[in-house]
Amino acid sequence: MKPATFEYHAPATAGETVTLLAELGEEAKIIAGGQSLVPMLALRLAVFEHLVDLRRVDELRGIETRADAVRIGAGTTHAAVGRSDDVRRGVPLLARATPLIGHFQIRNRGTIGGAIAHADAAAEYPVVALTLDADIETLSPRGRRTVPASAFFTGMWTTDLEPDELVTGIVFPTWHGRCGWAIEEFTRRSGDFAMAGAAVAVRLDADSRVERCAIGLFGLAPTPVRATETETELIGRAVEATRAEEVGRSATAGLEAISSDVHGSADYRRRVGAAMVARAWRRAVEEAGND
Ligand SMILES: Cc1cc2nc3c(=O)[nH]c(=O)nc-3n(C[C@H](O)[C@H](O)[C@H](O)COP(=O)(O)OP(=O)(O)OC[C@H]3O[C@@H](n4cnc5c(N)ncnc54)[C@H](O)[C@@H]3O)c2cc1C
Repeated sequence: MKPATFEYHAPATAGETVTLLAELGEEAKIIAGGQSLVPMLALRLAVFEHLVDLRRVDELRGIETRADAVRIGAGTTHAAVGRSDDVRRGVPLLARATPLIGHFQIRNRGTIGGAIAHADAAAEYPVVALTLDADIETLSPRGRRTVPASAFFTGMWTTDLEPDELVTGIVFPTWHGRCGWAIEEFTRRSGDFAMAGAAVAVRLDADSRVERCAIGLFGLAPTPVRATETETELIGRAVEATRAEEVGRSATAGLEAISSDVHGSADYRRRVGAAMVARAWRRAVEEAGND
């Protein structure tokens, strides 16, 4: 099948893009790398009269290290994120998540802004943004906004974005001190979306107690979710007294209504999710302990 006909627009600036989106209304859709949108158009799961392409909008690309954060322009490809020393140094969890996204052809075209805006609950970048308390920067004809990741992902493939609003960048806070990071996922074939996965960030104090931690789950609910109760329980505990399997069980216990599908029953997915948390916790605390 081929996509339905559409009118193609290629604005040169972010400002022109949002003006165009406002003029064209709900029949217009942004296209970035096209790695999620084009399959949907080709299968006619989505039909838009206008596509507004971001490829000429250079201001959306680039990676910038700030005092306590790394900012990544929305139009930066997964491949550029994966190659970046700034990302490897400042946001190791994001660097480690990148090779898990699809295949290299997809990473060469797909953009971080597209992955965040597409908001697939099984995707890697949304869960990393949520786990690290990233901020999503946006632009619309009404001006700029900064939305915390915790308020951005509102449901299955839905976000806080208005139809005429553009993601311009994502700001990932950097963690300092004795830190460790890990992302683990289960897929039936390499490159598939995760059936269940977990991202962990942990910081230990000088006595190897858990000073700060964040556990994000993906593929297990309509949005990526944080295991906040488990995180709170872990704070202040001596890291050698934490048991990875218990952390995994606790982090997934509170998940409501995991859906059963062709990939597995709800109970199976919860158990796989718990195993992914346990694996990620073990790796993250080991790295933090070696620091
Ligand atoms: C075979 C295959 C396997 C894949 N596997 C994975 C995987 O394992 N993990 C994973 O995370 N992803 C996976 N993907 C998806 C891939 O990561 C996409 O690149 C990503 O989801 C969307 O980025 P994009 O730039 O291609 O966006 P597009 O496909 O162009 O757009 C996606 C959506 O985001 C909107 N959008 C794009 N940019 C912006 C912006 N700046 N502001 C506002 N809205 C915007 C578009 O309007 C559209 O609704 C896979 C894709 C394929 C085809």
